[in-house]
Amino acid sequence: MEIFEALESEVRSYCRGWPTVFDTATGSSMTDEDGNAYLDFFAGAGALNYGHNPPELKRELLGYLARDGVTHGLDMSTTAKRRFLETFRRLVLAPRGLDYKVQFPGPTGANSVESALKLARKVTGREPVVSFTNAFHGMSLGALAVTGNAMKRGGAGVPLAHAVTMPFDNYFDGRMPDFLWFERLLLDSGSGLDLPAAVIVETVQGEGGINVARPEWLRGLSELCARHDMLLIVDDVQMGCGRTGPFFSFEEAGITPDIVCLSKSISGYGLPLSLTLIKPEHDIWEPGEHNGTFRGNNPAFVTATAALETFWADDALERSTLAKGEWINNELSALAAGGEGMSVRGRGLAQGLVFEQADRAGKACRAAFDRGLLVETSGPESEVAKIMPALTITDAELERGLALFADAVRSCQ
Ligand code: PMP
Repeated sequence: MEIFEALESEVRSYCRGWPTVFDTATGSSMTDEDGNAYLDFFAGAGALNYGHNPPELKRELLGYLARDGVTHGLDMSTTAKRRFLETFRRLVLAPRGLDYKVQFPGPTGANSVESALKLARKVTGREPVVSFTNAFHGMSLGALAVTGNAMKRGGAGVPLAHAVTMPFDNYFDGRMPDFLWFERLLLDSGSGLDLPAAVIVETVQGEGGINVARPEWLRGLSELCARHDMLLIVDDVQMGCGRTGPFFSFEEAGITPDIVCLSKSISGYGLPLSLTLIKPEHDIWEPGEHNGTFRGNNPAFVTATAALETFWADDALERSTLAKGEWINNELSALAAGGEGMSVRGRGLAQGLVFEQADRAGKACRAAFDRGLLVETSGPESEVAKIMPALTITDAELERGLALFADAVRSCQ
């Protein structure tokens, strides 16, 4: 028996849908140990927005390692961190008129969510946090408490910290009066609802099935938070770093969250790094109050800096992402129109083909794998085929991948 089945926990998942042993990867291509190539429409679940081993980033990383740059330094000041912070301010914050302090809460997206939830409770002195149907914020207990997925919550094994669930935009197919009902509950002393500390939201729910919030809905949510002194936390772990077009996914709505969670593609190289962006007036942490061994991944600072310099010095990537997203949306819409029980939704390079009959999504993704294409499912019933290639995918690769995907879907009608 392979070492994976013999030794690895039953919790493993991706290796089941894609039963091969991967070895090398460049750009939008992965190769297994037998030399088979796979086109990647998945991009590390959003952690590889610039593809595998992007050459500009690899050069910087190899140079840094060659000169024995610091690899581990807790949250010491380092030259790699300084370059990253300076570049982040110059290319990300300043051009968008944003003023945030930067916390490095640990290596993963869930670490950023945990720090955001803790800080919001500390700032407001209140406990409940509002989250949304189908939300996904991570697997640690605090993040799981604001996650909507029943299967993931079921794995917790213990009661989860107090959270309030609200319907995400379009949960009731547009029939719900936006926020009025919720505001009434907030104001009603008989509702049993304590005033929440914060609202945590994804602008597009990635794991939840590519559910897209309208900009006006996000603006309404932001105004609701302001009216009741609740902090607005945008979890941009999956949709940030250009996935929906602009660097931050909330830019289109013109809102300024109190706290932003970033991870996945911020290192640009698949190296673990996460950031919590905090409005300066809310940065009331005491020194050392939220610490951890892996807060400062210096090789990740090096690749993150190179990623910003390579891809965010102008708006070319944003424009090409929006154009490619529209292209995919059109192709998927044609595919859906030519078959039964399918619909399409998405923004930028996060697009989903939704199957009324949930198991068809998994079958289509398996058929795609058999044709050399990696596509992941998402949604509460795994009913959505999630098309999330690297933002740097070439037009030729995109065309080939879409043809393979269409063939895969048609093969299991
Ligand atoms: N928030 C969102 C929106 C995510 O998509 C994810 C991961 N899929 C997380 C948080 C958790 O990130 P991590 O897996 O790195 O802990």
